[in-house]
Amino acid sequence: MNHDPALPVTPRTTNDTRLLSMINASGDCFWEVDVERRFVYISDNMALMMGYPATEVVGRSVQDFMTPEYKLQIHRQTIERGAPIHQHGAIRHEGEFICKDGSGKWGDTVSVPVFDDDGVHIGYFGITRDITQRKKDEHALREANRLLRGQVQRINQLHEQLREQAIRDDLTGVYNRRHFVAVAEREIARSRRQQQPLSLVMLDVDFFKRVNDVHGHLAGDEALRVIGLLLRSTSRAEDLACRLGGEEFAVLLPGMDHHGAIERAQEWRSALASLKTRIGGGTELSLTASFGVATFPQHAGSVTELMRAADQRLYHAKDSGRNRVVGALDE
Ligand code: GH3
Ligand code: MG
Ligand code: MG
Repeated sequence: MNHDPALPVTPRTTNDTRLLSMINASGDCFWEVDVERRFVYISDNMALMMGYPATEVVGRSVQDFMTPEYKLQIHRQTIERGAPIHQHGAIRHEGEFICKDGSGKWGDTVSVPVFDDDGVHIGYFGITRDITQRKKDEHALREANRLLRGQVQRINQLHEQLREQAIRDDLTGVYNRRHFVAVAEREIARSRRQQQPLSLVMLDVDFFKRVNDVHGHLAGDEALRVIGLLLRSTSRAEDLACRLGGEEFAVLLPGMDHHGAIERAQEWRSALASLKTRIGGGTELSLTASFGVATFPQHAGSVTELMRAADQRLYHAKDSGRNRVVGALDE
């Protein structure tokens, strides 16, 4: 065997020697320390793992070879256990040793207190298994998981962005017609089930062609953006504002009766008429719009009928002078 017979705390018996050679053959490391936890003996494997010859380790404190984190962990473990550590029997811990070349080696250690024949505590011995590769693998796995989680998060964000892009109008930020119709179908079904009213306000900007003709298309775009913002910022959470196309918008008002919807349309009409939109070059622009209002169930039984009814009233508003709200003609 490979150890200096002068080193062990107690002389090796033949059985000890056999056991040591078996531990060495297993690849694990064996060591002994005194009560001050100074190395008394380290096996060949331990010397190999740490990169030190046994002669440079024996006599030195275990702590000299442990990372600060490992020392802290052992310190905490000792405090948690309360009574002196040698009264606890076997203890097990994982931690990082510092090798001679400055690199780290992770060990999984089991240690037990040793007593002489009179029961006096004389030190500890233990077995340490080199788990550096396992730790590296665990670290690589954690890192791969972290990256993967980041990528999944990014993909989810992109999905969400794509979903938003698919349902919103690029220019104005309100919903697009397709989404509006899909939601209106759901809302009308719900209103039918719950026997609740559902109103639709449709609006078309007055003489918008002139805005483009006089101020240019970009100024027209800016004006449409302002209208989108006005509708979004003045809608309830349950309302759904959309751009039906061109300079035509609609707001779906779930739960709102005809009278309430006409009031809302009047508010939007006067808000828009008094809004001064600043367009490129500092020019201030005033816009008006004409509004048509229809309500489920009294004016329509389906989304198509509701949109047709609101549209008819909108054009009635245009015909009767613009910048006005027209609701049910007979109410
Ligand atoms: P009315 O009061 O009868 O509604 O008159 P109008 O000029 O608003 O009606 P018309 O339908 O003739 O014109 C709508 C204009 O809206 C024509 C089109 O160039 C303009 N328009 C449609 N979409 C956009 C857009 O995305 N940006 C800009 N700048 N203009 C648009
Ligand atoms: Mg128009
Ligand atoms: Mg139009």
